[in-house]
Amino acid sequence: MRSLVTGGAGFIGSHLVDRLLAEGHEVVVLDDLSTGHRGNLEHLKRQDELEFHEVDVRDHDEICKHFEAVEWVFHLAALADIVPSIQKPLEYLRAGVDGTISVLEAARHAGVKKFLYAASSSCYGIPDAYPTPEDAEVRPQYPYALAKNLGEQCVMHWVQVYGLPAISLRLFNVYGPRARTTGTYGAVFGVFLAQKLAGKPFTVVGDGTQTRDFTYVIDVVEAFTSAAKSDVIGEIMNVGSSQTYSINRLVELLGGEVVHIPKRPGEPSCTFADVSKIRKLLNWKAVTRFDEGVAIMLKNIDYWRDAPVWESSNVREQTKDWFKYLA
Ligand code: NAD
Repeated sequence: MRSLVTGGAGFIGSHLVDRLLAEGHEVVVLDDLSTGHRGNLEHLKRQDELEFHEVDVRDHDEICKHFEAVEWVFHLAALADIVPSIQKPLEYLRAGVDGTISVLEAARHAGVKKFLYAASSSCYGIPDAYPTPEDAEVRPQYPYALAKNLGEQCVMHWVQVYGLPAISLRLFNVYGPRARTTGTYGAVFGVFLAQKLAGKPFTVVGDGTQTRDFTYVIDVVEAFTSAAKSDVIGEIMNVGSSQTYSINRLVELLGGEVVHIPKRPGEPSCTFADVSKIRKLLNWKAVTRFDEGVAIMLKNIDYWRDAPVWESSNVREQTKDWFKYLA
C-alpha cells in the first residue's frame, strides 16, 4: 500500500505517518513546513518507505507527480490557528480552500481508493446541543473555522460530482505529544506546558469551568485508519473522546499555579462530540483516558522547551484582534 499524507510534518500528521509505516505502508508526505517541523519525522529518517517533499499543496502541478500509485490520501495540510486566521483571512482561506481543491483534483486524477479529510469541530461555533451531532447547524465564528468548513464542502462536492471515495472527520480538540507550538498563541496544551517548564502560572481563560472534548492523538489516528479501511464513503463523522473535561481539571492534572485572563468572544463554554455515528459506521471509539494522555504529555514535556511562554500581559496583546473583531 502506498499512502500520502499532506501536513505529515505537523502534529497529527506525523502520528499518522508513524502508524501507516508501522502497518507496512509506503508513505509520501507533502508539507511546506509553514507550521510543521522536519523534527516531527526525525525519528523516521532511516525508514526507506518514507518520502518527504517540501511543497505547498496549492502548487497543483508540483504535487500531482507524487500521487502515482497512491491508494489512500489523508489531507491534513492547513493553517490551524485562530488568532492568525482573524488577522490573515486570505492566507487561511487559500490554504483551506485552494489547498484542498488542489489535493482533491490530484487524488481524483490518480484514482485513489480513499480520501480522508481532517475537518474541525470549530464549524459548530456555539452549538445549541451537547453532545453535538453532525447535523447541528454550521456556524463558523472565525476564518479558520470557515476555511476548514469550506474545505469540507469541497470534499463532499467531489464525492457528489466525481464519485471520489472520500470521508470527512470533524476532529475535536486533539492533544498529545508534538501538539503544535507555533509562535502564535494557540491550543491550551502547548501554552500550559511551556508555562509549566518556565515556572509561570497557567493562563486560565475565565473561571476555567469551560470544558473541551480533549481527544488523544493516537485515538484520532485510529479513526483515520479505520475510516480508510472501511467501505463507508461520502460521510461526515465527529471524532471525539465521548467525554468533556474542564480546564480546571487539566490544571489539576498538570499541577501548578494559575492566573485568570478574560473570557473570549465567539468561544463555546463546552465542546462535546456526539460520537454515535462513527461508533455505528466504523465501530470506532476513543480508548485513551484523559489522565493517561496528560501523563504521556508530561513525560514528553521537553518538546515544549522552545515554545513561546505566554503571560497574561502578552496574551492580551496577542489576542487583541480576537476581542476587536469577534466581540
Ligand atoms: P499542524 O499545524 O501541526 O499541522 C498542519 C501541517 O500542515 C503543518 O505541518 C504545516 O506545515 C502543513 N501545511 C500548512 N499549509 C500547508 C500548505 N499550503 N501546503 C503544505 N503543507 C501545509 O496542525 P495539526 O494540529 O496537526 O492539524 C492537522 C489538521 O487537523 C489540520 O487540517 C487541522 O485543521 C485539523 N484539525 C486539528 C485539530 C486539533 O485539535 N489539532 C482539530 C480539528 C482539526
